[in-house]
Amino acid sequence: MLDLWFSEFHAPDAKLSILVKEQLYSEQTPFQKIDFFDSETFGKFFTLDGLIMITEKDEFIYHEMISNVPMAVNPDIKKVLIIGGGDGGTAREVCRFKTVEQVDMVEIDERVVRLCQKYFPQTACALDNDPRINLIFGDGLKFVQDAPEGAYDLILVDSTDPLGPGEGLFTTEFYRNCYRALNDKGILINQHESPYYKEYAYEMRRAHKKLASVFSIATVYQFYMPTYSSGHWLFGFASKGLDPVKDADFKRWSEFGLQNRYYNPGVHLGAFALPNYVQEELRNKVFRFVCKSGNTFIVLPLCDFIT
Ligand code: SAM
Repeated sequence: MLDLWFSEFHAPDAKLSILVKEQLYSEQTPFQKIDFFDSETFGKFFTLDGLIMITEKDEFIYHEMISNVPMAVNPDIKKVLIIGGGDGGTAREVCRFKTVEQVDMVEIDERVVRLCQKYFPQTACALDNDPRINLIFGDGLKFVQDAPEGAYDLILVDSTDPLGPGEGLFTTEFYRNCYRALNDKGILINQHESPYYKEYAYEMRRAHKKLASVFSIATVYQFYMPTYSSGHWLFGFASKGLDPVKDADFKRWSEFGLQNRYYNPGVHLGAFALPNYVQEELRNKVFRFVCKSGNTFIVLPLCDFIT
């Protein structure tokens, strides 16, 4: 019998492969291709357009880090907007904070939610039974554009990479609309790619330049995600004034009484202690725009032109 392997390329000559016990389901939606697999080491996992979204074994890392960091910086967060996050893991984690009153979740592809409710109850569980969650099917870009000013304490952009439907969620226009939809203590957390392999690092720098042009505080924080490219993954932290380290209130965070497997105050502080090469990447201009002047090609910093 032949072995069936799922492989995801992280660079043209480097990939992650997982031995598949069984392919559970496959569907092409109007937005993307969804596949569900089962494996020994990572349990069930699902992919969108061939890229791993979550696995049963390591999703807790991503979801604890997207939710606990902002909740420690502002434990008074009550109104949350999730963009994307169709597997439900981010909504599940946010709902562990009993003080959160409202969670609007805007997912472009209803099939992701419905299939995760069937194949991934571990993450989709809160979507079925927590009355604080308002599930909205539509484009997050448009939703934020129409959102009332200052409506949210926290926006979590739990999106796919900047390709296909997720592309608009990495634009300056989207970040400006998020800024407007947040109140004065508002925080934006976004899926911020990886600093390691070249193409991911390029997207990381682009997203950072744009966020830094809109928010007075914009940085990234890191975590270890075994099934994402290089394992070294980032979230962006942007706010109108709250500092992710100086304003972290671990005393109040500990009063939430959560039993976490990854996040704790030490991890929070360490996550913002960025390796030198990442700091350098973030300082670097994003050179990609090439224009021709007479017979000379000039490479210009992309951040001056990106929208
Ligand atoms: N944790 C995952 C990761 O980083 O790989 C992301 C999880 S979640 C499945 C990503 C979701 O974002 C997908 O379900 C996708 O349909 C949704 N999405 C992509 N673009 C969107 C948009 N413009 N508006 C709303 N949701 C979007």
